[in-house]
Amino acid sequence: MKIVNEQESEILTDEKIITRKHFLSLTGKSLIGTAVSTSMVSDLLAQEKLKATSPPAKIPPAQDAPIELEAWKSDVDQASAPLPTPLAPKDRVGYAVVGLGHLALGEILPALSSCKKSKLVALVSGSPEKLEKVGKQYGISPENCYNYETYDTLKDNPEVDVIYIVLPNGLHHEYVIRGAKAGKHMLCEKPMANSSQECRDMITACNEAGVKLMIAYRIQYQPHNRTLRELIQKKEFGIPKLIETSNNQSSANPNHWRHKKSLAGGGALPDIGIYCLNTLRFILQEEPSEVFGYVYSTPGNPLFAEVEELVSWQMRFSNGLIANCATHYNVHESRQLRVLCEKGWYNIDKAYAYKGQQMQKAYAEGKIGYQDQLFISEINQFAAEMDHFSDCVLNNKKPFTAGEEGLQDHIIMEAIYESAHSGKPVKISSQPSFAELHGPEPILD
Ligand code: NAD
Repeated sequence: MKIVNEQESEILTDEKIITRKHFLSLTGKSLIGTAVSTSMVSDLLAQEKLKATSPPAKIPPAQDAPIELEAWKSDVDQASAPLPTPLAPKDRVGYAVVGLGHLALGEILPALSSCKKSKLVALVSGSPEKLEKVGKQYGISPENCYNYETYDTLKDNPEVDVIYIVLPNGLHHEYVIRGAKAGKHMLCEKPMANSSQECRDMITACNEAGVKLMIAYRIQYQPHNRTLRELIQKKEFGIPKLIETSNNQSSANPNHWRHKKSLAGGGALPDIGIYCLNTLRFILQEEPSEVFGYVYSTPGNPLFAEVEELVSWQMRFSNGLIANCATHYNVHESRQLRVLCEKGWYNIDKAYAYKGQQMQKAYAEGKIGYQDQLFISEINQFAAEMDHFSDCVLNNKKPFTAGEEGLQDHIIMEAIYESAHSGKPVKISSQPSFAELHGPEPILD
């Protein structure tokens, strides 16, 4: 430890010598007569190093107010959303999409065309044919097309602000860490990785590089789920007592990466069951205290030689709330969520689908029982989540679904597998608050 005084021109630390002027400029304070510890100086140097490696901050463009048009509708009808206020293309955040498979080609690239703050600027794929074809379709020049060997050179492309990882789960860890080292903000598909340890490595790598990390939990930007959360939080029907939810689909190709443990991490649970888990944690704004799991795979079915077919699990929350959850890889598609409260229930059909959600609520008033259909305007969930991440990059905010949120899902999934293996309930000791896992609420305009 050293005492700084007016005369001293240098502060000696374990790492290096910095000038008094530099030290004062880092702290922005006068430190005359102040005790300065080595760790304090090291922290400041680390901050400086971070600033040197972090991507340059983008200057947030002034957001226009929506254009006002003459009003003509009566308020008897459902109100329309305000008119969109897209940023000029030059002000939007540039995305490199990595992995041109079903999700990227079917949903993400088309969604980028309807974003207001985000734009596609680069593609990464192992297939030169795909790069050529998709590059032409979306107007991406050959210089902005990369393969997995040239991936790290994205760091030299100033048009790229964000790298969006849409690769098999088992590759998320490597490509997020390499992308962070290239100094780019990272958006990563769910599940975040193959294990909680990989998630921790990814969070550390992004923190060390001074870049943002968001997990693409589109469901938390989806208006039906957001409405359900609001109604539960304001206890419209009292306290939730029982939840029933499942996310199921059918699979046919045993050679697909989803059926290889090293690339998928697991079977139905990390791929689609994670939606039940993540959505319940989101709408309740609470962590389960205990899980009890059961795993099954039909013997001899080559689809399930490495990964599981079915996971059924129970989660216990406060106030005695129990959630019965299931996910299956070998039944006809079905995605349901039903929340039973003291005085009524909510139901969402197609709960975890890309679109087509239908929401109902049931309750009684005297002799009349009601079952209402809620008409909630759909939005493109992928465009909403990407524009939210762009807003975080432009305005230096923590993403709503930060890396810590992805880690928590992995901690719980590991407990579900452990419980299924042991046949006993497993306590969840990791109990972060909603605020610790989330950045500020997204502005969904
Ligand atoms: P996909 O198989 O259709 O696409 C994966 C891409 O990765 C392919 O283009 C493939 O060529 C490429 N790839 C690179 N290296 C590979 C390797 N070693 N093995 C196999 N493929 C390799 O998969 P997908 O359905 O597009 O899923 C991609 C990611 O997106 C997964 O993490 C998945 O969980 C996630 N996902 C999310 C949603 C959502 O709604 N958010 C929906 C579907 C998939």
